[in-house]
Amino acid sequence: MVEDEKYMAEAVAAVLRKNHYAVDLELSGESGLYSALSGIYDIIILDIMLPEVDGLTILREIRAEGIDTPVILLTARDQLKDKINGLDMGADDYLAKPFHADELLARLRALGRRRGDLNDGGLLSFGDISLNPHTLTAYSNQQKAKLTLKESQLLELLIQRPNFITSKELIIDKLWGYESDIEGARVENQVSLLRRKIASLSKSIQIVTIRGIGYRLESTEELGQKSAPKQ
Ligand code: CA
Repeated sequence: MVEDEKYMAEAVAAVLRKNHYAVDLELSGESGLYSALSGIYDIIILDIMLPEVDGLTILREIRAEGIDTPVILLTARDQLKDKINGLDMGADDYLAKPFHADELLARLRALGRRRGDLNDGGLLSFGDISLNPHTLTAYSNQQKAKLTLKESQLLELLIQRPNFITSKELIIDKLWGYESDIEGARVENQVSLLRRKIASLSKSIQIVTIRGIGYRLESTEELGQKSAPKQ
């Protein structure tokens, strides 16, 4: 979230965190642009009215760099022209200030759905396991397991990147924030905690360690049943 009104920004961030979103707050346009260009975010909540580097400039620059992270613009009520400009520049949605936190939460859920991350029941699935990131619950056919916030965020990240290796650095950025100084051992610890929960749910799903690179979620069932992928 990029918003220079500190009090308001922190209040919104607190509501988002309470709803299990991991939030990084940038209080200036310059630092907001720098973070947005990292490309690690799922959604950017972007205030238009920022001193020096404004929201529309940030939007234009990240789109010019090919970063397609969904963007929700925060506008003042009377900024019709800014809204239109913003949508033309590739914003996905906008919200007029002042807004109710519930409306922002609804917009965030809608953007998540639009990206195809969640199925109809609001669940993320991989193999025979599903995750509801809003209730921190993972399911398999017969079982369910309560996850901690970090376990849920880690599983969500791995499910969203089924064919990719997810590096420790990306996990740190996503779970603890872009500017945290968390050590790799914390990631290993989180992975082993999540592995235990997954093992209690499914025999076919596992988090595979790619030594020196990162982790990948794999389904042994899938490997056994499907023929080699076609080009
Ligand atoms: Ca502002």
